[in-house]
Amino acid sequence: MAETTYRGPVPVPTPETKPFWEAAKQRVLLVQECETCGHRYFYPRPLCPRCFSSRVRWLRCSGRGRLHTFVVNHRPPKDFPLPAPYVIAIVELEEGPRMLTNLVGVDPDPKTLRCDMPVEVVFEDITEDIALPRFRPATEKPDEPR
Ligand SMILES: [Zn+2]
Repeated sequence: MAETTYRGPVPVPTPETKPFWEAAKQRVLLVQECETCGHRYFYPRPLCPRCFSSRVRWLRCSGRGRLHTFVVNHRPPKDFPLPAPYVIAIVELEEGPRMLTNLVGVDPDPKTLRCDMPVEVVFEDITEDIALPRFRPATEKPDEPR
């Protein structure tokens, strides 16, 4: 795949999201899990969104999931980093939480995409400190170390 020069907005880690971004840099996807009620969720928050417990921990994900739903966008906002058309997707992780993300490495064509198809995370380094998680159709044999 051709390298693209990222020119979109860059996430700014906060105390709540810093572990997520540090792990992403190491090609590890984290979500949070509530130690009180067991709920797993994304995006990172200091309190469980279900029971408001502050006893939450980070959970390392497999990086695998399924395409829950998607839309192909032909008209990106100004300066959006992906060339149009591109796929905006909601991925349901094996661990349960759903993530809003982009699907890459696939034709942005509804004929080649189907809900529930297996996908896996890929990380794109956009700066020295930030790697963005995106997803691609799952390969049986990963072609890069996790
Ligand atoms: Zn909880």
